Amino acid sequence: MSSEYNYEELLDNIYTKLPKNTAKGDRFEMPRFDFFTEGNKTIIKNFKAVIDKIRRDPTILSKYLSKELAVPLEISGERLVLQRKLTGDIVNKKLEEFVTRYVMCKECNRPDTHIEDLGHRVRNLVCESCGARKAIR
Ligand SMILES: [Zn+2]
Repeated sequence: MSSEYNYEELLDNIYTKLPKNTAKGDRFEMPRFDFFTEGNKTIIKNFKAVIDKIRRDPTILSKYLSKELAVPLEISGERLVLQRKLTGDIVNKKLEEFVTRYVMCKECNRPDTHIEDLGHRVRNLVCESCGARKAIR
C-alpha cells in the first residue's frame, strides 16, 4: 500500500522540479534575408525559407517589399528577384517592419498568428497564443 503513496509523492516531486517558465526558451528569432546583387538586380536567396518561418503568404510579403522599396520584383523558385541593385541592409529593415506588423502579436509579442481576411481589404491579425485580434493597417 505504501507504494501508491510513494507514487503520489514522486509526482509531486516531478511537478515541483519542472521549470516554471518554459516559454522563455523558445524566444522568436527575427528572420533575415540572405541576399546578393547581380548586375542591376538584388536576389534574395532564402525567400522561401523566411516565408516558411513566418508562415505568411509569399505574395503578401513580396507585395509589401515591392511597394515599400518601389521596386518591381518576382518570385523565382525559392528566391525573390528584385529588379534593382539595393545597397546596405534595407531589405532586412523592411522584413523586420513586415514581421512586426504582419506576424508579431501586439498583445503578447509572440509570432503564433495568422491573418484573417474579411474582404474589402479588411484584415485581422489573429493570435493563436492569447486570442488577440487586431486590424492590420
Ligand atoms: Zn498574442
